[in-house]
Amino acid sequence: MSQTELSPLTDKFGRTVNYLRLSVTDRCDFRCIYCMSEDMTFLPRQQLLTLEEMAFLGKAFVGLGVNKIRLTGGEPLVRKNIQSLISDLGSLDGLDELLLTTNGSQLEKMSPQLADAGVSRINISIDSLCPERFSAITRTGKLERVLAGIEAAQAAGIKRIKLNSVIVRGNNDDEIIPLVNFALEKGLDISFIEEMPMGDIGGRDRQRTMVTSEEIKDIIGTTHLMIPSTETSAGPSRYHHIAGSDIRIGFISPHSHNFCDTCNRVRVTSEGRLLLCLGNENSVDLKAVMRRNPGDIDILKATIVEAMAHKPERHYFYDDDKPQVVRLMNVTGG
Ligand code: SAM
Ligand code: SF4
Repeated sequence: MSQTELSPLTDKFGRTVNYLRLSVTDRCDFRCIYCMSEDMTFLPRQQLLTLEEMAFLGKAFVGLGVNKIRLTGGEPLVRKNIQSLISDLGSLDGLDELLLTTNGSQLEKMSPQLADAGVSRINISIDSLCPERFSAITRTGKLERVLAGIEAAQAAGIKRIKLNSVIVRGNNDDEIIPLVNFALEKGLDISFIEEMPMGDIGGRDRQRTMVTSEEIKDIIGTTHLMIPSTETSAGPSRYHHIAGSDIRIGFISPHSHNFCDTCNRVRVTSEGRLLLCLGNENSVDLKAVMRRNPGDIDILKATIVEAMAHKPERHYFYDDDKPQVVRLMNVTGG
């Protein structure tokens, strides 16, 4: 085994990466107001990594000590033949968890296959329980399909399902308690994500629309007793339990808090850019490396190891009050 294969993915700040978030497509059947503009131009298909290249990449990362991969997007379940990638990744020795973040629109039909292929956890995004408002936020989505998707994922036996909600000021900030009650009723965890300044979407003033985790906690505290959990994830998420229940409420606060010192993850975009940090534009073009050296996993691994030197100490979403990340969330992989 070469030195490269033995090298852990440790950066110059002593953080070890064991978690890869892989965006399998920038496309989506929804157009959520905080994520995309209404008229989107998506990447030409030939610019995307093929599913085989993604599986090869997964193998390289797992060979370097990554034991957790999350598939995201765009909407991962609209990528054609995504099941083949899920099966390939699901059978990698050394991968402990294969996770998925989805808008839920395809879950009604796909949940059984996902469970069979070894997807152990699913995050499902849902920002409103009012059908009209849900359609307004997602621009094209139907609430009933997502609700049916949640039921299907539970029925398929996927053990850990978490809801994700982005709260937007003046839009769904009156649905925080109903969303928590829905999670309680279904026996599901729920996380509230602060809106992040990813890309410029038609002049959206995110400093105004963003609702902080602290505000959300205060609102939940008016009706539910929350007990801070001692569990931590190496990421921007902090958890609480609702008194008298098993469900966890997470607060993902990349904006108002900075947990970069325990960051354990990197991202790969659907066109193969390795992003060392969500809030930073530095990237390494892994697609070029794979296409120049087809089938050479050692060169790919060496490139990934070298890239760790460029993992920044922390994210800076704003530079003098101006958002500095130009990629949209669907490109980054949320
Ligand atoms: N389409 C899938 C979904 O919606 O779950 C996966 C990709 S989506 C980019 C992943 C997560 O990012 C979703 O929970 C979504 O709500 C969140 N998201 C998108 N844009 C965001 C933004 N600007 N700030 C914070 N969260 C965002
Ligand atoms: Fe699509 Fe997810 Fe972005 Fe909504 S948040 S537009 S579902 S990628």
